[in-house]
Amino acid sequence: MERMVSGIKPTGRLHLGNYIGAISQFIKYQEEYELFIFIANLHAITVPIEAKELRKNTKDLIALYLACGLDPEKTTLFLQSDVDAHAKLGWVMTCTSYVGELQRMTQYKDKTAKGESGITAGLFTYPPLMAGDIILYDADYVPVGKDQTQHVELTRDLAERFNNRYSDTFKIPKPLTTSVGQKICSLQDPTKKMSKSVTDPKGTIDLLDDPNVARKKIMSAVTDSIGIIQYDPENQPGISNLLTIQSVLTNEPIESIVSRYQGKGYGELKKEIGQTIFDFLTDLQSKYKAIIESGKIDEVLKQGAEKANYIANKKIRKVYKKVGFTL
Ligand code: ATP
Ligand code: MG
Repeated sequence: MERMVSGIKPTGRLHLGNYIGAISQFIKYQEEYELFIFIANLHAITVPIEAKELRKNTKDLIALYLACGLDPEKTTLFLQSDVDAHAKLGWVMTCTSYVGELQRMTQYKDKTAKGESGITAGLFTYPPLMAGDIILYDADYVPVGKDQTQHVELTRDLAERFNNRYSDTFKIPKPLTTSVGQKICSLQDPTKKMSKSVTDPKGTIDLLDDPNVARKKIMSAVTDSIGIIQYDPENQPGISNLLTIQSVLTNEPIESIVSRYQGKGYGELKKEIGQTIFDFLTDLQSKYKAIIESGKIDEVLKQGAEKANYIANKKIRKVYKKVGFTL
């Protein structure tokens, strides 16, 4: 089985877009790949975050991923901070990077261009840390959105640079662009993507929203005045977005939903989708609660860290030998 590694930053609450675009993809990938998922808490402190919030986010994130169907028997799920080799290799990768190439990374570039204050040195050096996260496990693939391809390019460059300098050590990972993962838009402005950093509570369905509140959000979703139910993201972004949500959550093809609603109004369609969301969240949240209460999280993380440490420590020992740390 080929290996895939991915990190999730424990910042903010998860929403329906995250589920459809990312989590549901991982659930599929765990059947096809040897999957390693870590909670990227070292990355989370590159911007200010309260310890209490970080703790809560981390717990929620893990409980939600498990509730969505991530199987700890198939997937190695762990905290980045539980595997010391991430920080160790991060340093070696920082010393393999040039200031110039890090200055070109868009996140850092955008923030400095805007003249933002309080940018940490960690925000500048997080790309080499991320490179280490991936090559530590000899990953074959990294799933990436379009905004992340630059990071994978850097990872490949750094791995190759190290291999050339010291001899073959790291596998060069390939990006797996997840274009199949559907993009979900805001219910209030369907030309923009649903997102956790934009304050748009009525447009965003959080996975921990009260199911009744979520149903209301669907009922008041912005549509159009065309009045025909069809999939046309260009001219009817609101209706198309709702059709996508319904189709993904029920596995019914969009064409089939459209044909069922020939000659019917938007209100009826929204009612059905509102019910779908209600049922989906009710089921998900009852699993989430059971996981939080069971104490299962600690067990999953312990088991994940054990497996990750075994692989990561072997790799870091090799690296330490090659750079001359081991006498
Ligand atoms: P931010 O606004 O801070 O960027 P976000 O809501 O975009 O947050 P991320 O943490 O950036 O969430 O993304 C986590 C994962 O969820 C990524 O794989 C991303 O592609 C996916 N994702 C985020 N928003 C959507 C969306 N609206 N539709 C589909 N996938 C999404
Ligand atoms: Mg994003």
